[in-house]
Amino acid sequence: MKRRGLLIILSSPSGAGKSTMAGMLREWDPSIAFSVSATTRPPRVGEQDGREYHFRTREEFGEMVASSEMLEHAEVFTNLYGSPKAPVKAAMGAGQDTLFDIDWQGGQQIRNSSLGNDVVSIFLLPPSMAALEQRLRARGQDSDDVINDRMSKSLDEVSHWAEYDYVLVNEDMDACAEQVRAILVAERLRRERQEGLNDFVRDLQDEFGSRT
Ligand code: 5GP
Repeated sequence: MKRRGLLIILSSPSGAGKSTMAGMLREWDPSIAFSVSATTRPPRVGEQDGREYHFRTREEFGEMVASSEMLEHAEVFTNLYGSPKAPVKAAMGAGQDTLFDIDWQGGQQIRNSSLGNDVVSIFLLPPSMAALEQRLRARGQDSDDVINDRMSKSLDEVSHWAEYDYVLVNEDMDACAEQVRAILVAERLRRERQEGLNDFVRDLQDEFGSRT
């Protein structure tokens, strides 16, 4: 059955397991496309241009926004981030789901766009703020100042939990991934997402009619 591709928005405070979750989902279903954002943030060690992010200057980023290449964009931690539109449209056209690892501002913009009906939004909460800080420190990627700043931004991010379709507490990564998979299985089966359903049911009815 042909179906419309979903726009899966995954948000959480940084350190709550969003990137790990994104990786697990793509392992579960490699057909899920990952939206590679553009950002003005400098690459961290191990990050590659075009893989984790498209690393751009402020000027280049501004040009992308001005030429309407972004589906959404926002300032996060003094850097600009945005989701390029073209790959998303291509994936949707092919009936493929796209996964976005973006903040609440981006989630809000996509939900309020003309693609809002195709959105499934999921928010991951940490089991505690202490666990969040521990995960941020364990990454060893950021200085104390950056971590403190991220912790206060996390509170802001958490305050938007009620805007999401699904809210999960990430106590255990595997259990949480299982819940996300269950959400996707169900959301893919929603009536309005199964494009061939009308024809299929008409064929069933015709088949019955031709017997009588
Ligand atoms: P990081 O710099 O740690 O990779 O990401 C910082 C925050 O920016 C994360 O919460 C991440 O989800 C968010 N982010 C990443 N890409 C985008 C994007 O394209 N749009 C928006 N609105 N947020 C993004």
